[in-house]
Amino acid sequence: MPYSTEQDFMTSFTDLALDPRVLKAVAETGYEKPTPIQAQAIPHALEGRDVLGIAQTGTGKTASFTLPMISLLQKGRARARMPRSLVLAPTRELAAQVAENFESYAKHVKLSMALLIGGVSFKDQDKLIDRGVDVLIATPGRLLDHFERGKLMLTGVQIMVVDEADRMLDMGFIPDIERIFKLTPALTRQTLFFSATMPPEITRLTEEFLHNPVRVEVARQATTAETIDQFVCKHAPSRKDRADSEKREILRRILRAEGEGLTNGIIFCNRKRDVDIVAKSLRKHGFDAGALHGDLDQSVRTRILNGFRDGELKLLVASDVAARGLDIPSVSHVFNFDVPIHSEDYVHRIGRTGRAGRSGKSVTICLPHETKYLEKIEELVARQIPEMEDPLGTPSAEAKPETERREQSSPRHRSRSASRAAPASRGNGADTQPAPPAARTAARSAADAGARRGRRDRGSDHHPVTGLGSHVPAFLLRDFRMTAETASAQAAKPATPASETPATPAEEPAAEARPRSRTVRRSRTRSRTSEEAQQPQQVEAAPAA
Ligand code: ADP
Ligand code: MG
Repeated sequence: MPYSTEQDFMTSFTDLALDPRVLKAVAETGYEKPTPIQAQAIPHALEGRDVLGIAQTGTGKTASFTLPMISLLQKGRARARMPRSLVLAPTRELAAQVAENFESYAKHVKLSMALLIGGVSFKDQDKLIDRGVDVLIATPGRLLDHFERGKLMLTGVQIMVVDEADRMLDMGFIPDIERIFKLTPALTRQTLFFSATMPPEITRLTEEFLHNPVRVEVARQATTAETIDQFVCKHAPSRKDRADSEKREILRRILRAEGEGLTNGIIFCNRKRDVDIVAKSLRKHGFDAGALHGDLDQSVRTRILNGFRDGELKLLVASDVAARGLDIPSVSHVFNFDVPIHSEDYVHRIGRTGRAGRSGKSVTICLPHETKYLEKIEELVARQIPEMEDPLGTPSAEAKPETERREQSSPRHRSRSASRAAPASRGNGADTQPAPPAARTAARSAADAGARRGRRDRGSDHHPVTGLGSHVPAFLLRDFRMTAETASAQAAKPATPASETPATPAEEPAAEARPRSRTVRRSRTRSRTSEEAQQPQQVEAAPAA
């Protein structure tokens, strides 16, 4: 349990000076005690201090700012067009999630809230802002759109939150954030700033805009949760043009091998195009899978996400941006169909599992040309990710039926036959055998220099495969929920054709530019009529009866 170490003395939420009605709402969510980031950040936030919170995903950062905000906002009233607090989130989904948190924690107090995200008509949002809101939750682009239309003043902002700052950076939002900071009152504003990692640009931003912040850091930067069993599955494709289909087959084999231990999982692809291809292929093979990426219509994204959260959809195939920071409780598995190119994305991806002290498992499929990214990741997380057996065994596997291939999955068998099986494709260098990290750099230059030569040292490069062994991870012993696979597989059909564009950070801002129907609901009901979607999204939580 990641909570037990640093903050054992902090045993309950009641030790925190939160508003009793907030405490009541927290108790109703079933949380027993604050997570370390909550226990450390909340007291400072309640004192009005600026807070710089650094914690990996899944550590409960959202409540560490929503709870004190709700308590603090009890004093005073909202004025027209002048929100009293502002929460910036990088994506619509994350903003909506923050809104959901506010709704549930503020259910016993009176607090007005508006959500400014793409997909909702400006008119409806203007109406809300005109009336005055206590909490404004927004994506940076949309907020500035409203500001530029003269419908919004930020001079009344007393508390400003920047959530998932490192993702803002990835998505190119830093100039927007700077601009927004400058539109809010520098001297009186309290700033709560959260990030999983602290790249230099983020550090600079906090130095410029935070006043003497309390730095709250619960784990070393860019560490991955201890509760996640991480594996890498290295595969040398039999032929370059078969790499993708072999990866899909590896994925299927791993999914099947996980069996009942696989409650639900997210499969990350580097490119949007592959998100669609992988999801479609999984469905074709009888898996319950849906695609989530920035090119999908917002209503489709919402439906898929809700289906996944409600346990009706078992596998979510996603791009980084679409899935960043999403609060999806108890994901048992994360699969990296591709090794993430930015090593920090690895931390975020596998942060989807092993959340809030639960155990989880991640498997990263790694082709030889991706080992350079894997090395960067291992450097960042300061550990070597154990290698699991390649379920495809021999590189020429695709040519044979699945049952026959299963027999040949010994890694030693593979490493030998690899050099013989595909001499025709040697020219592209893509089938170079992966090497252990220590030997990799040397092996890589050797591979670069001699990619066209046969490699005699291949056998000695190969290091023993680490698998599950006799250790049975806790999640394998957990109960699992049956899912309505067919229904959501149907619902999960992508609405738009696959795009060739890589899943670059630009996908989300681009999607923001095309307003679509987007609403936040009090509960996670799955469908909503278009009339309902036209309703303004104000939450007027009534005081407890
Ligand atoms: P982060 O923003 O750090 O990624 P979230 O705020 O999304 O994390 O929380 C991650 C998960 O942990 C959510 O499912 C949330 O409901 C749960 N959670 C938050 N605080 C607590 C707590 N004190 N006890 C148990 N679970 C919690
Ligand atoms: Mg978060």
